[in-house]
Amino acid sequence: MNNGEIKGETGIKEYHVLSLSGGKDSTALAFFIRENMPEVHEQIEYVFCDTEKEIPETYDYLDKIEVFLDKPIKRLKPYMSFDHLYEVHGFLPSIAQRWCTIELKTKVFRKYIYDRFKKDGEGQVQLYIGIRADEAGRAENSIKSTDNLINQIYPFIENGIQKNDVMNILEKSGIGLPDYYNWRKRSGCYFCFFQSKNDWLNLYENHPDLFQKAIEYEFNSYDTDRNKWFGWNMDMPLKEMIKPDNMKKIREDYQKLIEKRLKQKTKYSNSLFESEDCYDESKCLFCHT
Ligand code: SF4
Repeated sequence: MNNGEIKGETGIKEYHVLSLSGGKDSTALAFFIRENMPEVHEQIEYVFCDTEKEIPETYDYLDKIEVFLDKPIKRLKPYMSFDHLYEVHGFLPSIAQRWCTIELKTKVFRKYIYDRFKKDGEGQVQLYIGIRADEAGRAENSIKSTDNLINQIYPFIENGIQKNDVMNILEKSGIGLPDYYNWRKRSGCYFCFFQSKNDWLNLYENHPDLFQKAIEYEFNSYDTDRNKWFGWNMDMPLKEMIKPDNMKKIREDYQKLIEKRLKQKTKYSNSLFESEDCYDESKCLFCHT
């Protein structure tokens, strides 16, 4: 049985873990490891921290990854539902107050790692992270483990793997991109506040039921007191976004932004400004890798 364990060069036990987000980079890393690090692939454990609020395409993609890798993905469930945590906190998570990632992902993952591997009292978890070489700054900004149990490893950075290489890995492996890639470029919760207004509209068109659920989480005082409401996107409540005039403007603004970024890309570099990143400069490492 796969136990995630191999002996490292120093002779201490090493446990190998990759946390999949359902996104293209962490998925490509799994296939990169299979092709280039067979000893690690043999032993590695794949885990996924399920917020239970992911888009359906993410769950489908995880099932597909299991088939293509011929390895199981351990689905870690939250110790408390998002809805209950929302009640406890009393406000929606946001970029400034990102309790969702902490409660639904980080804590769940760390507890699993500790329960699973710490009991021996020795050894180290080698945690593989799919940050690419063309976004290496994210690795510097990531939160490092404060103890010796977890050692973070960045095979894409070490091997100069960029976005085009990731696309090639996914194509060559046969798995391709997740289906949500047709309308959204990030994995994560359907209501993620990192998404742009344009992506909110894409959610509305592709999963109107989920969009409706997201509306129900928002404080509905916008009509009576515009200073006292709290939504996923603080510029505009979701129910305002889908008014025809607003939809038209959001689509037009997004198009202009893409055109501007593409001009900058032509002028300055070929990898700095990806059109997919037009809307989202800040990404959640745990949820969107
Ligand atoms: S995907 Fe977004 S909403 Fe979900 S846990 Fe991550 S940051 Fe929070």
